[in-house]
Amino acid sequence: MATYTPMIQQYLKVKAEYQDAFLFFRLGDFYEMFFDDAVKASQVLEITLTSRDGGSEDRIPMCGVPYHAAPQYIEQLIEKGFKVAICEQTEDPKQAKGVVRREVVQLITPGTMMEGKGLNERENNYLASISRFADDQYGFAVSDLTTGESQVTITKSMDEVLNELATSGAREVVISASHTDELQKKIRERGQVTLSMEEDIQSYVSFEALLSHLTNVEIKQTAARLFNYLYRTQKRSLDHLQAVRFYTVDQYMKIDYYSKRNLELTETIRSKGKKGSLLWLLDETKTAMGSRMLKSWVDRPLINQQQIELRHSVVDTLFSCYFERQEIREKLTEVYDLERLAGRIAFGNVNARDLIQLKKSLLQIPLLKSMVENLPNEATKQLADKLEPCEEITDLLERAIVDNPPLSIKEGNIISDGYNEELDRYRYASRNGKQWIAELEKEEREKTGIKSLKIGYNRVFGYYIEVTRANLSLLKEGQYERKQTLANAERFITPDLKEKETLILEAEEKSTELEYELFTTIREYVKEYIPQIQRLAKVVSELDVLQCFAEISEARHYTKPSFTTDRRLVIKNGRHPVVEKVMNAQEYVPNDCHMGDEREILLITGPNMSGKSTYMRQVALTSILAQIGCYVPADEAKLPIFDQVFTRIGAADDLISGQSTFMVEMLEAKNAIVNATRNSLILFDEIGRGTSTYDGMALAQSIIEYIHERIEAKTLFSTHYHELTVLGEQLSMLNNVHVSAIEQNGKVVFLHKIKEGAADKSYGIHVAELAELPKELIARANEILQALESGDNTSSKEEKKVVPNKVSEDAQLSFFAEPKVEVKANLSSKEKKTLESLKSLNILEMTPMQAFNILFDLHKQAKS
Ligand code: ADP
Ligand code: MG
Repeated sequence: MATYTPMIQQYLKVKAEYQDAFLFFRLGDFYEMFFDDAVKASQVLEITLTSRDGGSEDRIPMCGVPYHAAPQYIEQLIEKGFKVAICEQTEDPKQAKGVVRREVVQLITPGTMMEGKGLNERENNYLASISRFADDQYGFAVSDLTTGESQVTITKSMDEVLNELATSGAREVVISASHTDELQKKIRERGQVTLSMEEDIQSYVSFEALLSHLTNVEIKQTAARLFNYLYRTQKRSLDHLQAVRFYTVDQYMKIDYYSKRNLELTETIRSKGKKGSLLWLLDETKTAMGSRMLKSWVDRPLINQQQIELRHSVVDTLFSCYFERQEIREKLTEVYDLERLAGRIAFGNVNARDLIQLKKSLLQIPLLKSMVENLPNEATKQLADKLEPCEEITDLLERAIVDNPPLSIKEGNIISDGYNEELDRYRYASRNGKQWIAELEKEEREKTGIKSLKIGYNRVFGYYIEVTRANLSLLKEGQYERKQTLANAERFITPDLKEKETLILEAEEKSTELEYELFTTIREYVKEYIPQIQRLAKVVSELDVLQCFAEISEARHYTKPSFTTDRRLVIKNGRHPVVEKVMNAQEYVPNDCHMGDEREILLITGPNMSGKSTYMRQVALTSILAQIGCYVPADEAKLPIFDQVFTRIGAADDLISGQSTFMVEMLEAKNAIVNATRNSLILFDEIGRGTSTYDGMALAQSIIEYIHERIEAKTLFSTHYHELTVLGEQLSMLNNVHVSAIEQNGKVVFLHKIKEGAADKSYGIHVAELAELPKELIARANEILQALESGDNTSSKEEKKVVPNKVSEDAQLSFFAEPKVEVKANLSSKEKKTLESLKSLNILEMTPMQAFNILFDLHKQAKS
């Protein structure tokens, strides 16, 4: 290090503390990066890599970006999951002795981004932290620096904490380096997440107020780790941080990560985007804050009946008051993102335009308040009471800030005339001076008779009189003092002009300085009101979500659900909200669902594509909609309140990684079976599909029996194993339903209508016919089916339970045994040989490729 220049030594010293970040090192008008940072950044950002002499033998790799263009580069790096440390010059270079002092003023990370395109205004940008405690307990905290809200909880297992993490959508997680590799690995498996370390779990004065209400030490430490990280990286006062809200996972309907994904609550499985999800369907909010609150409600449906019914009651009122609702919606569109504005005020990067947005938003509040006040409902009146307009701020901003201020806060033209006397005086002087100059120009033209004479201004020479070369002869000797010669003109000054110039420039400089000062005072004043603005933001968001529910419910003909306490579930003409929306509403076939009264498990059979999965999901989504406080897509709905919803889908046949997807399927199923209670809703969609027929069916059956005997959760189980339908006679609380299809002109038509009883037929052959397989092949398949079905009749109804092994033997018999195949009588010895070799195969041990090869051989034998 000794051989490096002092500046490079300074760089290395700072860099040593920010190993995991790109260090943006301020040098004049540039942020420079050196060494490995430079090499990597030049690749990621596609900027030129250069080098500089740094005192050592080799030149040092270097690249840089102009400071004014830095935000876009920083954004690119953050977007890719990197961190950026901003190192500024912290003393005036003119006064510095030796190397200018430099310090890191902020560490920008994916979870602490305050601005930029990477921030979606309709989503929170959470930073999460996880702490591990004894007995496999994990503390979990999140904070959104843009809005200042934080939450903390304690979970009982790694699965549970990972669920919370997935729900938060956090892009950065703060943990301790001592946390197990397994935790780190699991976090990384869930997608692109930046891991950051913070060891300090002490609570400090600077944020003790945010934590003092937490009594549990572990919970406090979890939140403290997060705050210590925030303060360490942001290095400034974070006045907008609100007291941490403690919650427990049991306070809400639990929907784990797999279920959320499978139900496509906030994003679709395929595109991972919002479009096509339940949230997409619901989002008729008018403000960004409302949209964020809506997402948090969808993520956490309620289980407290009173709270749910309170929401329903407001939706009810807004639903019936159509005109009032439209007025409220219109007003809401004029309210900007108060939460994030509050964040920016506290953070110190608010500009005058933001304050105008704040003013415009606050001005809507009294109007909104009176609209809500007049609604005929006690609950909405309470909402109205909480709409505090913060008049002190609107008054001040109305008086102080012009309507269309510039973006920059350092170049003046922000403060209104009449707000400050001193400023008015400067402005008067400057305007007066300019007026004087305009008059001077007129006078001099008359005096000299030069019509093109003009008075101009530039930064170097100040004010000057300009006369074109052609007119110079009209000037008297020594009339003006010569200052600058151009190709076509001469520029002059006079003592009077210079005197006025000094006055004008002084006034302008002073007024710009004063404006900045006034602006910061106003900003500080508004800062005092941050908690009030944040409270207001919450009420506005809530109102926005509730009006959104009313709007959707009316537009899509939803009805208000009611809740049962006797475990009954009755849905009349229910629909899948999203499928109904994306297809023509008239084409959607509504379905009833009736559970409870000894119907706890519905076993759903029916051909592929008939609507089994859709039906199951519509029941789950109806319950979720009801419990977030919305109306539901049905003509009538009486529902129990579910504590948890589980949704599992059997893995599709996957030849390449068959084993591992089946493992995933079983792990997901386990998680549901272990955690479900009597009050849960389970959807098992073709569980057991991911393995060979017999053990898949065996597992499916034992899972159903287990739920029936041990859990008694409400369960919808769809299956393509027709054999399972006999369970209807053996398990008292299981009922068969099926999705009907009819044949029209020998073709299958799906009616998508759920009916009682088991499906009587697999329509596979008809589907094959639709696909126009050769007629001969179809005829043969029908023949085989008949043979199989006559063989199947042996599985008599007297049997207590379907024993999987028995089934598989029966089925194997009908496939491979000679007796039932009619062609048997006149078999040639060659045919017998073929049959022998067929019988000797152990198909369960075969790979698909081997099976194909053997089939090929057999076919050849048979044909020869
Ligand atoms: P399955 O699970 O039985 O294979 P799906 O539930 O996936 O069938 O449904 C297949 C398709 O049928 C859906 O994508 C949808 O287009 C249509 N469908 C399902 N249910 C209905 C319904 N009730 N009304 C109209 N169309 C439906
Ligand atoms: Mg399906």
